Amino acid sequence: MRRPIVAGNWKMHGTRADNARLIEALLAGHPDRALAECLVFPPFVYLQDVGRLVRDTPIELGAQNVCAEARGAFTGEVSASMLQDVGCRYVLVGHSERRWIYHEDDQLVARKFAAAQAKSLVPILCVGEHLWDRENGRTEEVVARQLDVVLELCGVGALESGVIAYEPMWAIGTGRTATPEQAQAVHAFIRERIAKRDAKMGESTRVLYGGSVKASNAAELFAQPDVDGGLIGGASLNAEEFLAILAACGLR
Ligand code: PEP
Repeated sequence: MRRPIVAGNWKMHGTRADNARLIEALLAGHPDRALAECLVFPPFVYLQDVGRLVRDTPIELGAQNVCAEARGAFTGEVSASMLQDVGCRYVLVGHSERRWIYHEDDQLVARKFAAAQAKSLVPILCVGEHLWDRENGRTEEVVARQLDVVLELCGVGALESGVIAYEPMWAIGTGRTATPEQAQAVHAFIRERIAKRDAKMGESTRVLYGGSVKASNAAELFAQPDVDGGLIGGASLNAEEFLAILAACGLR
C-alpha cells in the first residue's frame, strides 16, 4: 500500500508573517497523518523558521532545491547536509522551473538526487514534458529520459527512499490541468519503466501528480490507481484549498 503525499511547493512567495499565518491555519485544520503525508517546501531563508513552527506536528519540511556538491566554493548554493541540519526531510530535485529557467540538465538533476540521498534526505524527482513534446507524441520519450538518467546514476534501489512527481510543464501555474486519464497514462508508464528494472520497486514507488491541482480537481486525479497524491504550487498558499486537497486523499 503506497501512502499518499500532499506536498506544497511555496516557490518564491511569502514573508515570515505570511508563513506563520499559513502554518497556523493548516494546523488549525488538523491535517490527518492517516490520510497522507503532508509536506511544505518554503524558500530556503524561511526553512528554519517554518521548521520550528511544524516541529512535532503532522506537517513535514522540505526544500525546493539542493546543490549537487557536498561543500566548498559554490557561492549562493545550499548543500544537502545544510538542509538536513535545519530539519528538512525532503527536497525537490529537477522542478521544471529549475530545468527550464535555470537550465538544469538531466545529469545535474541526477547528481542532486544522489547528493540528497547521501545525506538521508528524500528527494522528490520532478519529471514532465513541454507542451510541444506532448503535441509531437514525445511525452513518454522525455519522461523516460529524465527518469533513466537518475536510475542509471543511483540505481533503481535508490527509489526505496525517493519519490517521483510527474509534472507536465504545460500544466504548471497555467490553470490547465492534465485530465485524470492523461495523468494516469503517464503515471502507469513511469511505474512500468521502473518495474522493468525492479518489479517490486515499480509497485512501491510513490508517483505524485503536479500541475494546477486545486480542491476542485484533486479528488478525480487522486482517484487514479497510479496517482499517489500531489505536488501543489499555487493552491498550497491557501490553507483552505490545501487542506481540501489533503482531504481528497481520503476519497480515494
Ligand atoms: C509546482 O510548482 O510544482 C506546481 C505544480 O505548481 P501549480 O500547482 O501552481 O501548477
